[in-house]
Amino acid sequence: MKCPACTTEMAEVNIQHTVVIDRCPQCGGVVLDKGESEMIEALGLAHVVEEGVGSAHQHRTTSAHCHECDKEMVALRGAGEVEYDWCDGCERLFFDRGELSAFGAFVDS
Ligand SMILES: [Zn+2]
Ligand SMILES: [Zn+2]
Repeated sequence: MKCPACTTEMAEVNIQHTVVIDRCPQCGGVVLDKGESEMIEALGLAHVVEEGVGSAHQHRTTSAHCHECDKEMVALRGAGEVEYDWCDGCERLFFDRGELSAFGAFVDS
């Protein structure tokens, strides 16, 4: 999978030995697939994601691009002012580097 922000090929990262996510080695962005919602729940991200959907706004000048669907992603803001992008095609989520630093699970080891 290519990074929505910089098109670098993403690498799989094991989080807390329970889930595997895609992280960009270039810009540090993180992609969560739709099927990983249980993992989102486990990581305590559910409230963040739920608040964001439905409150679309523009938070950066160049939006992220879903290379799987070849479409622009929707910029959203969830709980705790966490900003992320959502693809309305495959429902994939993209978090910029730093946006998930408030969540212990994403602190670099
Ligand atoms: Zn990237
Ligand atoms: Zn997509």
